[in-house]
Amino acid sequence: MDTFPKPRVVVSRCLGFEKCRYDGSVISDPTVPLLEPHVEYITVCPEKEIGLGVPRDPVRLVQKNDEKRLFQPATGKDVTEGMQSFIDRFLDGLVEVDGFILKHRSPSCGLSNVKIYYGFEEKVNHFRGKGMFGEAVLRSHGSLPVEDEGRLRNFSIREHFLTRLFTMASFREFKKEPTMKGLVNFHTNNKLLFMAFSQDTMRELGRITANPEKQPIEKVTGSYEVLMRKMLATMPRFTSWINVLQHAFGFISDGLEKEEKELFLNSIEEYRDERIPLSTLIKLLKSYALRFNEEYLLRQTFLKPFPLDLVKITDSGQGRKL
Ligand code: SF4
Repeated sequence: MDTFPKPRVVVSRCLGFEKCRYDGSVISDPTVPLLEPHVEYITVCPEKEIGLGVPRDPVRLVQKNDEKRLFQPATGKDVTEGMQSFIDRFLDGLVEVDGFILKHRSPSCGLSNVKIYYGFEEKVNHFRGKGMFGEAVLRSHGSLPVEDEGRLRNFSIREHFLTRLFTMASFREFKKEPTMKGLVNFHTNNKLLFMAFSQDTMRELGRITANPEKQPIEKVTGSYEVLMRKMLATMPRFTSWINVLQHAFGFISDGLEKEEKELFLNSIEEYRDERIPLSTLIKLLKSYALRFNEEYLLRQTFLKPFPLDLVKITDSGQGRKL
């Protein structure tokens, strides 16, 4: 049975934890409860933390002169300073975390597509931007997986988020007692996964791991982490996954019957045509690796980037377009 580290995730509290929205409601979202047994959640509701109460009159972002202010139009209250000092306190005091799931379109938590108005009136013009808390999170923790629950309904975005999240958690585990041997192990276990993200960066990470200048472990770990986070931020193209699948297939193909080889290669074509998910191919590959006890493949996180019960085929319908 595969074991996984428990990622630490900061989550908007209204996503299933408390009826803390302005109207006293709670959001029922499929991804947050699915993840709950596998992660350690740190919940936060910035609007409640600054004493706005539940229920409350809604707040909105308003563009005033050159800056964005957070107002409660019904009361005329400007809560920008209160929110800013909560954000500073919260982010400064936060333990090391592996990712964030925030409520989409909220003037506080939203990461994008938040309405920013030119005044208080109902029909006044607006443009779109980031919420106050969401923007601060992106500034301080933007190299981590940070998503809103709306985007996580997309299959590809969700799998990318989960892959990054569990990779970051396992690196945090390694950092508890960092050794050069531990770093070499981490890199070896992640080689095929990283190859899907970027072959060049995977090799560069290998060079850092070799530590030719005999730098102290903390320095090597720091350089490795910065580069790894950067690499993981961009979702691999499906053609990169196909390259890695073909590469991995090379380790076991000699032992397979002709029909089994055909099955795998045809399945790659089905994946290319978006008829089956990547996880189907990974399962097939893993079954071959188990049969031949192919140790190098079996240790690869590529075959188990996150717990299997988190694979849900549900999708927002945007496919690979997002
Ligand atoms: S979106 Fe953020 S501020 Fe608004 S209710 Fe949810 S957790 Fe609270």
